Amino acid sequence: MPIECEIRDGALVWIKNPVSGVISYVVDVSGKSFAFTLGGRDPNVDASQHLSPEAIRHATEACPFCPGNEDSAPPELFRLSLEDVPEWSGLKAAPHSRWVMRVFNNLFPRIPSELTGDRNESYIVVEDPRHFIDSPRTAADLMFTGTLGSRHFIHLLQTDAFVMRRALENPNICSVVIRKNQGRESGASQPHLHQQILGSPEPFPAVVAEARAERDHPHLWQEIIALMDRLGLVIDRTSNIVSYASPIGAFPRSYDVLMPNFRGLLCELSKDQMVEFGNAIYRVLSTLGPLPLDYEIHQGEGLPLHAHLNARLYPYSNVAGTLNLPSTLLQSAAAIRSALARHRE
Ligand SMILES: [Zn+2]
Ligand SMILES: [Zn+2]
Repeated sequence: MPIECEIRDGALVWIKNPVSGVISYVVDVSGKSFAFTLGGRDPNVDASQHLSPEAIRHATEACPFCPGNEDSAPPELFRLSLEDVPEWSGLKAAPHSRWVMRVFNNLFPRIPSELTGDRNESYIVVEDPRHFIDSPRTAADLMFTGTLGSRHFIHLLQTDAFVMRRALENPNICSVVIRKNQGRESGASQPHLHQQILGSPEPFPAVVAEARAERDHPHLWQEIIALMDRLGLVIDRTSNIVSYASPIGAFPRSYDVLMPNFRGLLCELSKDQMVEFGNAIYRVLSTLGPLPLDYEIHQGEGLPLHAHLNARLYPYSNVAGTLNLPSTLLQSAAAIRSALARHRE
């Protein structure tokens, strides 16, 4: 069964997500006013404005993920130092930090630890010691993943793989998901950039649903890729990786990064495969920049390893299983492709 959709004069009119059944309708939103558009940096802020040293101190002193406050977070499991991340870009901004990344358990496990052998299997990875970007203008000018650099991001994925192996040593854990929320609008509870790793005693429902959809629909991923190609939504493609602006994402502006031929876990990737997967995710993250976003890495259950990235620029608008997709989706894929091409020159 092909992916259900309608294409008129070469343009997508609607498409049904084969996993969730949600139908996305492509609409022209150019005339619509988004009074509640969410944002990273506020364009109305005067360029000469600066966040005062007192405000910076106030925010960082209260942050359990900032250097100097290590004791207010749960006990550290391990850290990466400057020797581990020689490409770290923060030496000038945070010359005294003794770490670049830190891993500890989440104070509030997502899945109660009595279900995982009395071991908390929810982890936090603090991605960088810097709380704010350089010269913040407002308290919203937080450090974000898309500015860390791709090498730093690969180290982050390697750290995830290390934590995953630790979680999978627990005989009660059968499934691991990696999740990131960037920005208050995406549901992040801490402003300091961090990622979550969650181990579960059961396969995660989102992953189970995808595996079930593939059983019902054996060439699911190949069909999705072929359709994205036809619609001009593919951003990046090699023999191992494909990324595309997804019209069947959970939010109106979503992207997928997929390793169609690798049906394993993140921690089973070779170094080269990890670099390829990480670079493809990072390219989307660096394009989205400080925008509120989330991403999730799905693995296991025989699925090709993949990541879903959702920009959270607009308020969530799923109504009774329908989503409106801005018709600018095509342009956004083209804009990312040309930005990447410029970047590579
Ligand atoms: Zn902080
Ligand atoms: Zn998935």
